[in-house]
Amino acid sequence: MPESAHLPNYIGGRWVPSAAAEHLDVYNPATGQVIARTPLSTGTEVDCAVQAAAAAFPAWRETPPVIRARAMFAFKQQLEAHVEELARLVTTEHGKTLDESRGSVRRAIECVEVACGAPSMLTGYGLENIAANIDCTVMRQPIGVCAAIAPFNFPAMVPLWFLPFAVVCGNTFVLKPSEQVPLSQHRIFELLETCGLPPGVVNLVNGGKDVAEALCDHPGIRAVSFVGSTAVARLVYRRGTHAGKRVQALGGAKNFIIVMPDADLDRAMPLIAESFYGCAGERCLAGSVLLPVGAAHAEARDRLAAAAESLTVGNGLEPGVQMGPVVSARHRARVLGYVERGVAEGARLVADGRARKLPAEGFFVGPTVFDQVSPAMSIGREEIFGPVASVCPVADLDEAFRIMDAHPNANATSIFTSSGKAAREFAHRATASMVGVNIGVAAPMAYFPFGGARDSFFGDLKVHGRDAFEFYTDKKVAISRWL
Ligand code: NAD
Repeated sequence: MPESAHLPNYIGGRWVPSAAAEHLDVYNPATGQVIARTPLSTGTEVDCAVQAAAAAFPAWRETPPVIRARAMFAFKQQLEAHVEELARLVTTEHGKTLDESRGSVRRAIECVEVACGAPSMLTGYGLENIAANIDCTVMRQPIGVCAAIAPFNFPAMVPLWFLPFAVVCGNTFVLKPSEQVPLSQHRIFELLETCGLPPGVVNLVNGGKDVAEALCDHPGIRAVSFVGSTAVARLVYRRGTHAGKRVQALGGAKNFIIVMPDADLDRAMPLIAESFYGCAGERCLAGSVLLPVGAAHAEARDRLAAAAESLTVGNGLEPGVQMGPVVSARHRARVLGYVERGVAEGARLVADGRARKLPAEGFFVGPTVFDQVSPAMSIGREEIFGPVASVCPVADLDEAFRIMDAHPNANATSIFTSSGKAAREFAHRATASMVGVNIGVAAPMAYFPFGGARDSFFGDLKVHGRDAFEFYTDKKVAISRWL
């Protein structure tokens, strides 16, 4: 790799080469080729970024919210003008299809749009005469330097769950992209450079675990947002809160999809197949376990297997491709390991992705369906994060709830039914905090809260929507008497 393929950091309004001793290869997962190298930046570089953000904070804090919002309007325009370029970059470094990448960039833009509403969202409240001639005013103020640590599966979108909200609230910001997919954020920061933000308001430090830990520990950082696996989310939550920070940490998932006997399978099954196989199963909202109730079992299973076998798998940049590769050779080995374990544990393979003819290069996994999976099996219990579906037939909705309630993750869940009663009961009782009714992927839009429950989420305030304005501000009360 030429030196030019080594990605720089963005600190204090400048692109700065990293002093990292080590770099990680970034792959195009559809070809297996190395396309860039991520520096594993040092603690000193994290400290420089935090200092730049801290130096920019006093003036940015004083900048009127309406002017901060104008920078976000400019950012939105830049993103709109580069949707196609960004989508191609997402597909090139992550592997998902171009249509999926376009959708993810649109979702990122929606976050910026919601952040543009900051002048309304940041208003406080008050009451005159709380006692004779004494008034009370509540105002929202930014908290300081905020950081975010991102996962690999949505290179453009997930960091923008945080950056626009943090910045528009008057905070300054340090981002650590996933070391596996740093290119989309590199380009997004180039676009941000043109949006009128003063130097130091946004900073980017590439790296892995060490950079994430340094962000959790740094005394100059007031809040940390994290998205990734449950094990790391728990660590980051503990580490960041131990250091006195506000932390929201979104973890992994094992999402259950219930199909009632009264479901309209013609409508439901394409949505369900998309939930399991969209983005090659690398979505935190992806269906993972299908729980068909009673008589729904045989037909739902057979249709899912037929859908899996009919998917066109290939390079996501090519037209007609419906499913791309998984992100890395290591992740492919992990997913295929689950397929081996499923067979060894006695689940019944009804669509064997290993038998599919797949492109010779790249990190492809054939879409797979297991039937007769039990919650005790590793494929029924652990997050696979690949195109492997587990079908676990249940007698009734109560049995479905028993299985879901016993699982430590509770990110998203969906029911397919034509019964309003079953749908209402489902939405009411589900522990997961993103619930779909006849929806395959229950992804809240940017103006609603996003985040799971139990081991899928550590913290109080969720991501984007009104919660973001809560997370990125503090409330202050002024009590005044003018004699
Ligand atoms: P990951 O946990 O391996 O890594 C996430 C981030 O944490 C990366 O930036 C990585 O550099 C950093 N990191 C890794 N080890 C660390 C450590 N010990 N201490 C501090 N930081 C560390 O996750 P991933 O493989 O990149 O992403 C996939 C996971 O993310 C899946 O489990 C998926 O469900 C989850 N995810 C959850 C949501 C959600 O909304 N809940 C959204 C997207 C992805």
